[in-house]
Amino acid sequence: MDPIFNNTENAFALKTDSQLDRAYFLFKLISNQPLVRIGTAVTNFAIKAHLPVESLIRATVFDHFCGGTTEEECLSVVDNMFEKGVCSVLDYSVEGKQEEEQFDATLEKILKILNFVKERQAIPFAVFKPTGFGRIDLYEKVGNNETLTSEEQAEWERVLNRYETVCKKAYEMDVALLIDGEESWMQDAADAIVADMMRKYNKEKAIVYNTLQMYRWDRMDYLKQLHIDAKAQGFHIGMKLVRGAYMEKENKKAEDKGYKSPICVSKEATDENFDTAVAYMLDNLDCMAVFAGTHNEESSYKVAEIMKNKGVANDDARVWFGQLYGMSDHISFNLAKIGYNVAKYLPFGPVRDVMPYLIRRAEENTSVAGQTSRELSLLKQERKRRKI
Ligand SMILES: Cc1cc2nc3c(=O)[nH]c(=O)nc-3n(C[C@H](O)[C@H](O)[C@H](O)COP(=O)(O)OP(=O)(O)OC[C@H]3O[C@@H](n4cnc5c(N)ncnc54)[C@H](O)[C@@H]3O)c2cc1C
Repeated sequence: MDPIFNNTENAFALKTDSQLDRAYFLFKLISNQPLVRIGTAVTNFAIKAHLPVESLIRATVFDHFCGGTTEEECLSVVDNMFEKGVCSVLDYSVEGKQEEEQFDATLEKILKILNFVKERQAIPFAVFKPTGFGRIDLYEKVGNNETLTSEEQAEWERVLNRYETVCKKAYEMDVALLIDGEESWMQDAADAIVADMMRKYNKEKAIVYNTLQMYRWDRMDYLKQLHIDAKAQGFHIGMKLVRGAYMEKENKKAEDKGYKSPICVSKEATDENFDTAVAYMLDNLDCMAVFAGTHNEESSYKVAEIMKNKGVANDDARVWFGQLYGMSDHISFNLAKIGYNVAKYLPFGPVRDVMPYLIRRAEENTSVAGQTSRELSLLKQERKRRKI
């Protein structure tokens, strides 16, 4: 581990002894794959059967990975982190909705969050997911240039209006807006809308940020083409760079349908692609702003190194590091301590609605075995230091 990230006292300064214990036992449980599978099935059943499990979920996984059920409830976490120099991105983590009223409700929620974060230095970004604003099948159809029925055309217009409303508001309020990346089969349509929004609202600086999932081997080409467009048309590119969260799903769909998987051939190829994109963006900060969303120490270290070599100030507004709340505090808090811009995604929402998010976290930590054992060893190191 790079020495920057070694300091567990700093990493876990906000955790009480009992929170540290909870985190340790939680990651211990999550590291057990069969247990996660059983736990997921039991929890899904209990929620559907309306069994009173919410308080149990709240006291365990929810409070570790989420800030609260409402934005107001998140404020104590937001303020505590900000005292240590770490910002928050309020992430309304209600997923998998398919109805128009729900898309409108999500839009209202994001607009409310924009009002809420305005003037709060501790929350410099707002965020939303493309599928929060429209059906995934519709994105796919548009991305494939399929002919839409007149109802679908009207539905798509409503999707476009939601983007326009939220991006315009972010621009007027001068709050940067991150737009998450999702499955590749819906992403082309989302990318086209977000590029339009950048053209319109990123004339002076990056307000609208898209996401590039660098586990996709085609993303460097996409970034370079967008760069050509940005130079020709005079807009700034805002990008969150991540590795990507849907690898198994992507590979499975490609195999089932018999097309070439969009995913890089190996973890190493993804790592290289991610680091290449970071370096490319840092080389072009005159018209780019980058949000490096990663728990990978090596990649985080490389960003810091490149910044140093190029003489980019640690707190340059065009470079951000991002991690998820409840994970990789050793990266977030140690980078913030030396003045880098760091923001943690802070998910919130009603307990039963954020369950898909929590289950993904559990599964991710189970499948990314290295990451869980690293969390465990850091927590162990800190418990030892505190003589717990
Ligand atoms: C702040 C933040 C925002 C995020 N936003 C999004 C988002 O909008 N969309 C999204 O999809 N994800 C998002 N993620 C999740 C992210 O994509 C990763 O799943 C997660 O962060 C793990 O990757 P890593 O860079 O932290 O590190 P690592 O643990 O080093 O990398 C794990 C990742 O490497 C890739 N990988 C693993 N094995 C292989 C293999 N055999 N071949 C090819 N690639 C492989 C996968 O992407 C896997 O998730 C976000 C993460 C953060 C921290």
